Amino acid sequence: MDTVFQIGSRSFVLDEDKAREAFAAKRVINGRKTEAFNLLPLKYQWAYDLYRAMKANHWEPEDIPMGKDIEQWQSNSISDQERWIIRMGIGYFSAAEGIVGDNIQHVVRELVTAPELKLVLGRHAHEENIHADSLLYMISSLRINPHECEAMFEQIPSIKRKNEFVTNISRSLRRDLDLTLVENQKALAKNIFVFGQCMEGTQFYGLFGMILSLYRQNKFPAIGQMFRYTLRDESNHIEVFRNLFMDLVNENPAIQDDNFREELRDLMREAVRLEKEFIVDCLPVGAVGLSADDFCTYIDYIADRRLEGVGLKPITQGSKNPFPWLAETIDIKKEQNFFEGRVTEYQKASALEVPDDDDL
Ligand code: FE
Ligand code: MN
Repeated sequence: MDTVFQIGSRSFVLDEDKAREAFAAKRVINGRKTEAFNLLPLKYQWAYDLYRAMKANHWEPEDIPMGKDIEQWQSNSISDQERWIIRMGIGYFSAAEGIVGDNIQHVVRELVTAPELKLVLGRHAHEENIHADSLLYMISSLRINPHECEAMFEQIPSIKRKNEFVTNISRSLRRDLDLTLVENQKALAKNIFVFGQCMEGTQFYGLFGMILSLYRQNKFPAIGQMFRYTLRDESNHIEVFRNLFMDLVNENPAIQDDNFREELRDLMREAVRLEKEFIVDCLPVGAVGLSADDFCTYIDYIADRRLEGVGLKPITQGSKNPFPWLAETIDIKKEQNFFEGRVTEYQKASALEVPDDDDL
């Protein structure tokens, strides 16, 4: 159907059928090749909705005063084991946030074709920058030697192995990947599964739990607060990658076979194994309310939820959450005074709800 606009002596014809054709060619991969970043009409509504939810959660590290944390860091009220957890948190996440951001910018956002997917992935990458910046802010506030952090990537074997697990699945997808080939489609689907469900979705949760457990005991309140905001962001990232994975697989059914499903479950098994090794390094001796065994059980539980989220069979089956309080601690909707003014300012007039953390 043509719509004709007559403006003075000129007429402009808009062909709606052509526009519909272009819309139908919107795909996660191998979609319409275009330089035009035209969001409308939206095909992946979830991507736009998540973009809006993520933007409404905007935060900046330096708005959170570090005074109490600095005082505690230098005092005897904090044990060496507790300081070690913070060091491992800063050490691991300093590397991990960068790796996630890099994979979005140079692999996933490069390969997807629909503009609304590029939109939400741009926000996702920016949030990784905010997280990386929050770690810089913690390191400088606590006056930790910046070289120490870099050294941890190389010299703590469990951090090194976690990082290699994900960078290996990113590096091979860099250049000129022909996504008409099923094996390359599978490689991309694996990348999206590993980054979203295994790394951000599972391997982040050991430290999240430990740092929030300290926060619950009023230890390092500002660091705890930043990790709460980070965790809220991560739950959106897991959703972005979960939806992306599901749509990619549904649009390219040749990917799906039993073999592939088992490969994904094996990748999760490996992620869990590496995370447990890391948990033991974080907790070489017991601390108040923190046992390596409980954290390992927690990781089994989280991993199973992630698998179910993408329609895969759980590994442990019947695993239970040993930390029911954790869901409460990260539920920022109940936040009363702390950040209120600021969040409202960032959100401007938009009245968006914070997404549910019910995936825990
Ligand atoms: Fe992050
Ligand atoms: Mn993330």
